[in-house]
Amino acid sequence: MRTKDIIPSLTPYKPGKTINEVKKERGLSKIVKLASNENVYGPSPLVLDKLREFGQDFQLYPDGYARELRERVSDHLDVNRDQLIFGAGSDEIVQMLCRTYLENGSNTVMAHPTFPQYKHHAVIEGAEVREIPVKNGYHQLDQMLEAIDDFTRIVWLCTPNNPTGCYINEEQLLSFIKQCPEHVLIVLDEAYYEYVMADDYPDSLSLLENYQNIMILRTFSKAYGLAGFRVGYGISSQEVIRHLNTIRGPFNVTSIGQYAALNALEDQDYIRKVRQQNRKIQGQVEAFCRQYYLAYDPSETNFLLIHLPKSGLDVSDQLLDEGFIVRAGELLGIEQSIRVTIGKEEDMKEFMNVLSKCLE
Ligand SMILES: *Cc1c(COP(=O)(O)O)cnc(C)c1O
Repeated sequence: MRTKDIIPSLTPYKPGKTINEVKKERGLSKIVKLASNENVYGPSPLVLDKLREFGQDFQLYPDGYARELRERVSDHLDVNRDQLIFGAGSDEIVQMLCRTYLENGSNTVMAHPTFPQYKHHAVIEGAEVREIPVKNGYHQLDQMLEAIDDFTRIVWLCTPNNPTGCYINEEQLLSFIKQCPEHVLIVLDEAYYEYVMADDYPDSLSLLENYQNIMILRTFSKAYGLAGFRVGYGISSQEVIRHLNTIRGPFNVTSIGQYAALNALEDQDYIRKVRQQNRKIQGQVEAFCRQYYLAYDPSETNFLLIHLPKSGLDVSDQLLDEGFIVRAGELLGIEQSIRVTIGKEEDMKEFMNVLSKCLE
């Protein structure tokens, strides 16, 4: 079959091994998955209770406008209803953005390494991808500005950045936005927003008033613990939302996903607890790293990029033998490192124990 020219050069997303596959392969009874930055505590118990009451008729299509979820999110964030778009994960919104704004002859600017889906979809749309290496895990914003020209349509700022965990502070972001030409859409991917504790992390929503060319991406997949439901959202100007709505599938977010998400929003106390517990255990893992002279990138997320004196592929394989699934940095564009989701306290004690043996 004849495809678009670009398709044969691309590879399908390679999913990590499932817990059951690893158990079988390595003859293990317990697996701790620390590879995809899901919330290890799961969703709020309140959401689980509510889900038992979900009584909607499954034969019906979902509300394509996600009215109820839209109202709750717009009240929660204090933005207009028509400044929101929902997707099957923020992944789908990344795809919608590329489909809407990118084409042959245009280009898009992003960090490297960063969230791989920006590049993947940009390439499919035929756009030129300009990647600016991060420095010590941080976006090099001046270089990114220099890479922008008349043909640039989107610049991607992943903050905090996956896989490094580093964020862009308020002063840096404001300076970037002021210098960025107005024809360029600035995407702020804030998938880890709920985990951030830094005082100088920008209040990006407040920028929407003065800038029409900003799109903020958030998700229910990470701190809210609902990755399996696939619900993410974007916040922008009415103009950008209108553009995206023209290409959005009519029923792109499931009814039960909408229901889970709107209930999750109600339990902000749970999010606070998750954030605090995460940070406490992160501190323990960081102390371990210092003890073993392992550098790590400063993280405002629920994962840590740990630099190693040897191959991250080898270490992740050794860890797998002991039941810990992590991501080798080599697979994310950083040699000799692993990206580890901050797990539960007991699991991380065992993880550190095993990692220390891998280093011997
Ligand atoms: C996990 C993640 C996403 C995607 O989340 P969805 O599950 O698709 O909402 C987007 N951006 C970054 C940086 C992520 O780490």
